[in-house]
Amino acid sequence: MSYWFLFSNGKLLLPRKGGCYSILTHDTLPYTVNGMVHEVGKYENAICKAAEIADSSTVYTVSTDNTEDGLIWVGLRESYDLINVELHRLAGRGSELIFWDKNTRYCPVCGTPTKVNTVISKKCPNCGNEIFPQLSPAILVMIHKGEQILLVHARTFTRPFHGLVAGFVEPGETLEQCVAREVREETTLKINNIRYFGSQPWPYPSNLMIGFTADYVSGDIQFADNELTDGEFYSRDNLPMIPQKLSLARKMIDSWLESFEEVK
Ligand SMILES: [Zn+2]
Repeated sequence: MSYWFLFSNGKLLLPRKGGCYSILTHDTLPYTVNGMVHEVGKYENAICKAAEIADSSTVYTVSTDNTEDGLIWVGLRESYDLINVELHRLAGRGSELIFWDKNTRYCPVCGTPTKVNTVISKKCPNCGNEIFPQLSPAILVMIHKGEQILLVHARTFTRPFHGLVAGFVEPGETLEQCVAREVREETTLKINNIRYFGSQPWPYPSNLMIGFTADYVSGDIQFADNELTDGEFYSRDNLPMIPQKLSLARKMIDSWLESFEEVK
């Protein structure tokens, strides 16, 4: 028996029984898949596989509007609230590998159809070019000013919450240089004491988020490059809406809030 993380149009197929959600288990898959079947790890000693279903209309699903037992399609982000953290991590890995497979059918050097080489590499049979899954690293930074932190709203946020200053790492840049540059470009603030917090895969579609903390040194916030629409230093007792629990930004904010509990 294997666990099957099955996707279609970015949505994950989950069986629902008695209001509880799980991952499909099958010995052999009863659906046709599109592209590679990826082994994404083990869960409770069973192999976990991920694939994209070729035709989602071949899957009989029930309505998401009621609590009827059956199969439903759920967005990968939304599935965080329905399945446990480890299953969600495996689903994210599957989603990233499916994205990679779909976007590397042809060699980017010579245009020849690629061949699967290993579970995470392909090779061009014409020019020998090897293709691995590519990640886009992005930093997040929580800037402390006394007992306050900087929370910002970016133009790209689709919901009305405030999060952390963030940005993609550029070629030739260290993570710490990226942190300093993003803060300078987006807010004009001067910071120091840049320290690593932690990291998290962000499979939307293939990012790696790397979190840092830093201390405010000087300056007034100016939204210099127009990426932010709002931002100020907040105390723990007047926080705006903050990001969902799924995100690294939220874990960093929660960790800061917990640090006050420890002092008590
Ligand atoms: Zn080639």
